[in-house]
Amino acid sequence: MIKDYFSNIARGTVTTVAAFTTASKHLFTRSFTIQYPREKAELPDRTRHRLHVVIEDCIGCKNCERACPVDCIKIEPIKVPRSVDLGNSSAGNPIPFWLASFTIDMAKCCYCGLCTDPCPTGCIQMTPIYEFSSYEVTDLVYQFSMMSEEEIAEALRMFEEEQKRKAEEKAEKAAARAAEAAQPPAEKTERQQSESAAAVQGEGSAERAEDEPASSGEEE
Ligand code: SF4
Ligand code: SF4
Repeated sequence: MIKDYFSNIARGTVTTVAAFTTASKHLFTRSFTIQYPREKAELPDRTRHRLHVVIEDCIGCKNCERACPVDCIKIEPIKVPRSVDLGNSSAGNPIPFWLASFTIDMAKCCYCGLCTDPCPTGCIQMTPIYEFSSYEVTDLVYQFSMMSEEEIAEALRMFEEEQKRKAEEKAEKAAARAAEAAQPPAEKTERQQSESAAAVQGEGSAERAEDEPASSGEEE
């Protein structure tokens, strides 16, 4: 019993000395750890962290949304009517959509970077920002659209008006085609004959014009 007691003390002493010897060696060697967050590691080039969208340059093509393997990008574009010109992106692409919403859920993002490659304007990019932890998972859904609710409502109203006008134009054209198709053949022939006569007259005057001098200056 007494033998075990002294044996344990000896083993404890040896272990403590060995531990101090090992630890003390590191007092004089270069450290590989850093004191985060006071110190920060230098990030490699092309590092992939939080995404950012320069929304003024987004043309609403949805290439990024389609490329994302985890569906964390959601875009709600509204087609701009012909009467409105939103100008071009800084890369020169015309902007055909308003963006009622453009969200990226960084809680789902796997940082693959596949969304950035097909962007025609280069406006969706990975940034070096990696400190964005949050207590609420919903805080990780980033909204990039800057449209207010009033602006969205106005854009939707203009879009619906445009759709209505297009539908009316289409219906008018279809009615005109139907009316033309319903004309009796005699009437059609009469009209066709008058059109052919006008065409022949036109050709005759063109031939006469060719025989005449090109300008009065040449005659002198
Ligand atoms: S980095 Fe990958 S997962 Fe994240 S939004 Fe882009 S495509 Fe989706
Ligand atoms: S690919 Fe680029 S331009 Fe197209 S919707 Fe995405 S961010 Fe906008």
